[in-house]
Amino acid sequence: MIVTTPHIDPWSDGLYAPLPEAIIQSLRTVNAIEMPGRHAFDEALGRFVAGLSSELRETATFTEESYSEVARAVSEGTVAELPPKLRMWASCHHARAGSRKSYLILLPRDAFYNMNPADEEKLRANYIVQTDGEASGSPAEQYPENGGNSLESVAVFERVPVQPQIYDILVFTHRNHGVASTMLFEARRIGIATITWPMVEMFIRLCPICKMRAKGRHAAAPAEEEAASAAFRAPALSTPR
Ligand SMILES: [Zn+2]
Repeated sequence: MIVTTPHIDPWSDGLYAPLPEAIIQSLRTVNAIEMPGRHAFDEALGRFVAGLSSELRETATFTEESYSEVARAVSEGTVAELPPKLRMWASCHHARAGSRKSYLILLPRDAFYNMNPADEEKLRANYIVQTDGEASGSPAEQYPENGGNSLESVAVFERVPVQPQIYDILVFTHRNHGVASTMLFEARRIGIATITWPMVEMFIRLCPICKMRAKGRHAAAPAEEEAASAAFRAPALSTPR
């Protein structure tokens, strides 16, 4: 009998820019059994979002529908025509388009909020080249003098995930079963915006490995806990570097 390990199948929809390839690749190596289920997490996230005040609800996460609405407005320069809360959010956060082929919303990181608009445009053009896989548009738009600065673009912009991508991002940031602060730090490091403390906490609460570890800590026998955590540390070591 062949036993196959179920892996995480990243969400994808051709209309929306996929997560960076490095994240997608890493997800395919994660054992799905050791992670919260996508459905359970999405349900918990849905309940959390529904419980927020109306001011926060619309922009805490973006469903496919509202994401495409904002992404279109941002790339077409029609943010002023968005419904009030989405318009406020897009202009307050300086939302920008990160792709010409698919929906991708970028936000400049706080430190770059007030950068020179011309420099921001150059970095954004590099980000687009990186997302779309090739230089589209006229050669002047490729900014060869900034060539190889795609890392710099990622340092300046964060991307906003579509709601179903949040699960994939949290699996990636939790691949070694790290704590909430590590997950948040990791999300910022890889350039993802809008991942918040409640999201990572609810993810950890649903994690079967972390649940068992927590139970182990409460159990009386420390020797057993040691054995259990050693057993569960093994998958982390198989993560490719
Ligand atoms: Zn865990």
